[in-house]
Amino acid sequence: MCKTRVLSTKGDTVISSCLGCQMYYLWHNNLLLNFTSEAFESFREVVNSLPFHKNSLPFPDDEERIILHTPNDDICFAFCYEEFETFKQAIDEAMYMNEVYVLMSK
Ligand SMILES: [Zn+2]
Repeated sequence: MCKTRVLSTKGDTVISSCLGCQMYYLWHNNLLLNFTSEAFESFREVVNSLPFHKNSLPFPDDEERIILHTPNDDICFAFCYEEFETFKQAIDEAMYMNEVYVLMSK
């Protein structure tokens, strides 16, 4: 069983990692995504390179949301603007905290 530690908690997102197997766990609402560290880094690049207003579309409740593909192409997030900003902050903070932990473990 992995000993994970929480790297960031923001909004509905909790990101944790396991030092032993170098996996990242992104928990958002009822969805749990697992990433290798390379996959998490490239997911972060994709997320940060998506401009909200160019990629959002109106949903049935009249709110604009951006569609974000997970590494499993059939599964997508749909974020409104604030949720997407919070999600990006959670990922950035997780990367930062992970660097801190790596430095501390040396
Ligand atoms: Zn592990």
